[in-house]
Amino acid sequence: MKIIVQKFGGTSVANSKSRQACFKHIRQGLKENYKVVVVVSAMGRSGDPYATDSLINLAPNLLGREKDLLMNTGELISACVFSSELNEQGIANKVLTGGQAGIVTNNQYNEAGILELRPERIFKEFELTDVLVVTGFQGMSNDMEITTLGRGGSDTSATALGASVNAEFVDIFTDVEGIMTADPRIVDDAQILFRTTYNEICNLAHQGAKVIHPRAVEIAMQYNIPIRVRSTFSDTKGTLITNQSELDDQNQKESGQFLTGITQTAGIAQFQIKTNLSYSVQDNLFSKLEEHGVSVDLINITQDNVNFTVRKENAKKVEDILYSLSLEFEHRDDVVKISLVGASMTGVPGVVRKIVHTLYENNIPILQSTDSHTTIWVLVPESQSNEAIKALHYSFELHKPLAR
Ligand code: ADP
Ligand code: MG
Repeated sequence: MKIIVQKFGGTSVANSKSRQACFKHIRQGLKENYKVVVVVSAMGRSGDPYATDSLINLAPNLLGREKDLLMNTGELISACVFSSELNEQGIANKVLTGGQAGIVTNNQYNEAGILELRPERIFKEFELTDVLVVTGFQGMSNDMEITTLGRGGSDTSATALGASVNAEFVDIFTDVEGIMTADPRIVDDAQILFRTTYNEICNLAHQGAKVIHPRAVEIAMQYNIPIRVRSTFSDTKGTLITNQSELDDQNQKESGQFLTGITQTAGIAQFQIKTNLSYSVQDNLFSKLEEHGVSVDLINITQDNVNFTVRKENAKKVEDILYSLSLEFEHRDDVVKISLVGASMTGVPGVVRKIVHTLYENNIPILQSTDSHTTIWVLVPESQSNEAIKALHYSFELHKPLAR
């Protein structure tokens, strides 16, 4: 049995016109003799009546189990509307919830982890129909509780179901042509990455590229299921994500393009500790942060000072800890972390120089920076972050079209 998974995001299922565009892809899948697992998100974006955020706003104080019951209705409504219109188009189909489709999760409401995938029901249904419409974002625990998989959860549903039935492809249909060298809403001439690897996209996604959820990519990587990120509204093939890395890295290096993309993370706060810290105080500080469940990022420790960033929601806790240790510090939360990602930049000289030069030329201060073998991070003022991304995108020549 040849199976393909097609996931349609919020803007793709938002209204009947956009859903017609989805149906074209389903028809194409059927024409190519695939059984099609369709995964749908809730309809529209924040502000639309049945979008996830709008549902949450109906009962903003709801937590845990009941919040999951409320949120899962967005995908249920979406799937039923989608199914009905598909039927009207002459495409027979059946709706399954995430749980019915075999996504078994733990009981960690709002952010449930997948424990097991049971494909039997899908295979059984495919003896009777060629199209199954599955509600994204949700699963069911072993004690039959409805759970949701966290933000970007429909991407996770799609690759998990792809892994479960060993799909030939998981197609993530969205409102852009594919995964690009930067968010096209920030950089006009961002280019499509036609072929890339799970690792690269995982890095980009973890660093804030919202086009696909990192957990979804990790699942596909684990089961080696190719992902294509494509536009609902065109016939182009978009971005193909597989594990073919070495060859691609080599090609990239030869073409002189060693960065894959640039992305950003907002919602963070920077702390600069001014007091000279003895090792024991440092030890004490980081133990306290750990005790309070504060995860620390971008850490620079020297003999004279300690700088780090945390999620904004943890800033108050950090302040309290620093006061309790009588440390002098500065705290700013108008900062954005820019990530330059590229597995093939390992060992390429001059990358840091280029970053420093580009930002210096544009009068953008680097508040902090650090790097790993695949990523360089720079912290810049929020008011200049888009400008920084555009300038870096240009100076690393990411605006030049990539090889197909
Ligand atoms: P969906 O509702 O289909 O899941 P999302 O809003 O989650 O859609 O993801 C698509 C959006 O991701 C695009 O509209 C785009 O603005 C944003 N985006 C951020 N970074 C990138 C990138 N590097 N490449 C493509 N799109 C990106
Ligand atoms: Mg999405």
